[in-house]
Amino acid sequence: MPPKKDLPLAKRIANLGSETAFVMAAQAAAHAAKGNKVYPFHLGDINLTTPGNIIEAAHRALQAGHTGYTPNTGIPALREALAEEMNQTRGTAYHAENVAVQPGGKPVIGKFLLALMNPGDEVLYPNPGFPIYESQITFHNGIPVPYGVQVSGDRFTFDIEQMEQAITPKTRLLIINDLHNPTGAECSPEERRRIAEFAVKNDLMVLLDEAYFDIRYDGVSASLVSEAGMAERSVILYTFSKKFAMTGWRLGAAIGPKHIIDIFATLNVNDESCTSHCTQYAGLEALTGDQQGAQDILTRLEKRRNLATELLNSMEGVHCVRPNTTFYLYPEVTEAMANKGYTDYSEFLAAILQQTGVSMCARSHFGTPAATEQRKYLRLAYSGIDAEMIEEGLEKLKKFLAS
Ligand code: PLP
Repeated sequence: MPPKKDLPLAKRIANLGSETAFVMAAQAAAHAAKGNKVYPFHLGDINLTTPGNIIEAAHRALQAGHTGYTPNTGIPALREALAEEMNQTRGTAYHAENVAVQPGGKPVIGKFLLALMNPGDEVLYPNPGFPIYESQITFHNGIPVPYGVQVSGDRFTFDIEQMEQAITPKTRLLIINDLHNPTGAECSPEERRRIAEFAVKNDLMVLLDEAYFDIRYDGVSASLVSEAGMAERSVILYTFSKKFAMTGWRLGAAIGPKHIIDIFATLNVNDESCTSHCTQYAGLEALTGDQQGAQDILTRLEKRRNLATELLNSMEGVHCVRPNTTFYLYPEVTEAMANKGYTDYSEFLAAILQQTGVSMCARSHFGTPAATEQRKYLRLAYSGIDAEMIEEGLEKLKKFLAS
């Protein structure tokens, strides 16, 4: 018998947001279904295959019978390899007990809040930023308190002053996405120190979303966890999705103080039981096996970044910072939008999609813009589109903006 029509949904569902890049994906798919060519710059998925050695490791695991449940926090070898990876790259002193394997990086966000946030607690988070932060804070009855990102010379930086001014007695948690989606913002050593001092002084627990730590084209990434007083108060979100082109495998981890990781373990028991067994063996190979595949992915992405940035900067009314990290571009289009007579992002994006086939996101997909924000931005992901398509699509966009 079907449920009664007026059966009420849980009230908390009204507080749940979404990842609005998926909404753009639906619009692009509808446009393509009408026989149009689409240039997909909207979603941070990767159109490169997972390196062969990782796929083979998953096959071998299945054939060896690794098909049952694993411990809730993951197979010991993968937990050890992740602790070792952190220690090598971030100078920490983690052990396997500091690691809880997760089905992707994303689940770390909600579980971090469930473990540490009480209803009414205030959580500082980046806006523009990954939309799941705000959605999960609100869903679990916390109060999201945004801080911004600003242009400083030829790079984006986090607005630390705004962070500092937003502190109240209720502020309990801080979310940092250094190597930032959507802008590519990255802290300088001085900014990392300042944020760490701020977190320690205000006794905040910190989620370090380091999804893009290994997607960088020059230099070496550094983590806030290496700063004094941070390892004790931070949980790192690690993911295999980006570095190893494993978005659909769903493999990540929470790494942090043991007493918090023990809570993640209990949440895992109550939720997914464990992450897919053979996938964990694939992750072990990704961390400990041949790294050529990951290097090749980066080389391909860097070419795309260079091409897309150059083309965007050749467009009328567009200025694009070229970030050294992530696979996103966040061009300023204030003048381009005004030239074409648009003030509304969704109308501008719809016109671009209809007339050029280029599908993108805008600043508005990454949190509600503050009333004081004057400048307009788009966000392009170049992880899911080949160089030829980048060139073809952006040439069409250039013509559209000039017309
Ligand atoms: N954090 C940020 C900033 C992201 O951009 C993403 C994915 O786009 C994630 C976390 C989650 O990635 P996954 O769940 O695939 O590990």
